[in-house]
Amino acid sequence: KTFEELGLDSRLIRALTKKGIEKPTPIQQSAIPYILEGKDVVARAKTGSGKTLAYLLPLLQKLFSVSGNKKKLAPSAFILVPSRELSHQVYTEVSSLIELCRVQLKVVQLASTMPASDMRNALAGLPEILVTTPACIPKCFAAGVLEPKAISDSLEILVLDEADLLLSYGYEDNLRSVISIIPRRCLRLLMSATTCSDVEKLKKLILHNPVVLTL
Ligand code: AMP
Repeated sequence: KTFEELGLDSRLIRALTKKGIEKPTPIQQSAIPYILEGKDVVARAKTGSGKTLAYLLPLLQKLFSVSGNKKKLAPSAFILVPSRELSHQVYTEVSSLIELCRVQLKVVQLASTMPASDMRNALAGLPEILVTTPACIPKCFAAGVLEPKAISDSLEILVLDEADLLLSYGYEDNLRSVISIIPRRCLRLLMSATTCSDVEKLKKLILHNPVVLTL
């Protein structure tokens, strides 16, 4: 199938064409329609498979309709990753797509080592998308720069990328405090290179009757 046949918005397809991307990879073929339908997805996908766009494209498409409404006080999407390097890569990819789509969406990247004033400044622009590590969210609560109540009202999509590494990197308690405040309606996506016991544990903790994709 083509990206169009998968149900993607023409703005995203144009952005992909500008990047020289024309044909969906297998993980994109299978994940995109489910995510657009609003199903929780757990996907086993390695780096290089196109896993990042597999969740970013439908995530952005969902936010196109959310962003038509008035600005929310907290982000609509969290993308949580195990390292600052990956967080930077994902941030760069999201920024370039937003720019190419010419839509009014903002993305920020936060590092848990940032001073609270920098976190506050970054969030003051009311970004729709936050890319960070799980440790950063409790730090934002403690610093008073994100309100758990505002997140419960605003969050539509939670992505855990490289989920197989999140627990071994020691983020379990951080993730539990995020999970405790995410609203029931929130779509949850879990991308992981392997299916280890940690992924099974996260799947139970976070997802609701997910579609499981192994490619
Ligand atoms: P990832 O697996 O997300 O780390 O992506 C690996 C690389 O593949 C990135 O540089 C993407 O820009 C590129 N890529 C993603 N999807 C496609 C596609 N459908 N066709 C060609 N390249 C792609």
